[in-house]
Amino acid sequence: MAEDWRLANATTPAEPPTIEFEVIQSCLDALSGVVDAIFLPWVEDRIHLEWLEASDDRLGMTRFDEGPNELIRRRRLRLDPGDITIGLHPILALDRALFRHTFVHEFLHAAGLTLHSEEHDSLTNRLAPAPSLDESEVLRNMRQEVLGQLPIQEWTCRSCGHHWKRTTVRTPQRCIKCARPL
Ligand SMILES: [Zn+2]
Ligand SMILES: [Zn+2]
Repeated sequence: MAEDWRLANATTPAEPPTIEFEVIQSCLDALSGVVDAIFLPWVEDRIHLEWLEASDDRLGMTRFDEGPNELIRRRRLRLDPGDITIGLHPILALDRALFRHTFVHEFLHAAGLTLHSEEHDSLTNRLAPAPSLDESEVLRNMRQEVLGQLPIQEWTCRSCGHHWKRTTVRTPQRCIKCARPL
């Protein structure tokens, strides 16, 4: 990865984001019969896709343009939700698998699965699994950026004196050489 890689430096494409019709169709098929997918009859016609600002640290977001209170009312009454904006980070223009994964995640929110439930998660992973770190340079770069921002960058084992640079987001519990607790 280039030393100066930053999510915030992503270039925003001139054209707005687009999604293949087959992806929407597979979402609609998978959502039929899902109880929480209250907005299913409208969602396809109500969504607008746009790029988020590169400085946004989210890969995707869903906004019901009528506002949160109106959303609650329309959910309860099972009414047309009105316009829905799905924002996608411009870095996703470089990684189609991650783009589809993020889109599906947001589309399921837009269809009425507003919470990060088990069902939301398993549907997303079935319809458009996230690429692995091996497959996705974007994910690897994002991970490196996060690692670089964590305050502690290296560890020293008190037992054996082994010294190593941070490679994980999580704080290690044990020395990577002698395996004693840190
Ligand atoms: Zn979400
Ligand atoms: Zn050690």
